[in-house]
Formats: sequence, structure tokens, C-alpha cells
Amino acid sequence: MANVARMTGGCACGAVRFRLDAAPYDTGWCHCRICQHVSGAPGMVFTTVPLAALVMEQGEDRIGRFRSTAFGERRFCRDCGAPLTIHVRHQRGEIDIAVGALDDPGAVAPGFHLYAPEAPAWFSLDDNLPAWPALRPDTRGLEPGRTEAGDG
Ligand SMILES: [Zn+2]
Ligand SMILES: [Zn+2]
Repeated sequence: MANVARMTGGCACGAVRFRLDAAPYDTGWCHCRICQHVSGAPGMVFTTVPLAALVMEQGEDRIGRFRSTAFGERRFCRDCGAPLTIHVRHQRGEIDIAVGALDDPGAVAPGFHLYAPEAPAWFSLDDNLPAWPALRPDTRGLEPGRTEAGDG
């Protein structure tokens, strides 16, 4: 993953701009109902970077925070509503970036589907990627085999 050009992104209205100072990894779909609600779409694609590698270059004061679950906080642009990131309790040192917010969303590609059964029936999962009923069994930060991050 060396020599990956620095990636940049932002919200729909341009108020928020950010850059990624590390190559993102672990790109995948999430079809949970919260992702559907905040995006208005059948799921969202996220990619992950170390927390310190997400650098807000503009509009930090425009960013709203939404604690969408007991374990996750989402950030979005308060002016246009665009979803930007999700930060989960079990991966404190990392942050997930909404791929649609990247200037070049095609620079990464999803490798799996999370919460696949929650996707609408009309959404085609027929892309040969692994599709999990919830989180992956090897999710970093969770006990092996655990696939839910709920507060339990
Ligand atoms: Zn905006
Ligand atoms: Zn989700």
C-alpha cells in the first residue's frame, strides 16, 4: 500500500474538507438500518484509517456528531447533512470514513458486506464478496467470534 496518493474528501456543500494521511484499508459495505437511515441508501461503504491519519482541513466547526448507538458516534456536515465518519468504541485508534465523501470513491473498493440481511430485498448482493449477518467474526477490538458490538 506504499505510494498511495494522499486521498482527500469532503461533504456535499464543500464546507467540510479532510485528507487522509495514510492509505485506507478494510473497505466494506454496511447495510445496517442506521446506515440506511443516515444515508437514505441501501447501505454505506466505509474505509478505515488510523485515527490520527484523518486530518480535517476545513469546516471542523460545521461538523455535527450523532451517537447512533451505544458504541458508535457518527460525524456529518451540519450544513448539508452529508455523513462523514463513524468512530466505534471497540476501535478507538481507528476511524471509518464514508467512501462517498472521498473525492475519488473509486480509489478504494469494498471487500465485504456487513449486516447483509438488513439490506432491502431489491439490493443485489450478488458480487461474490463475503456477506456477514452482522459484523465480521474477526472484527478488530472484539473478542474472537463476537459479531455484535452492542453495549451488552
Ligand atoms: Zn456540507
Ligand atoms: Zn451500518
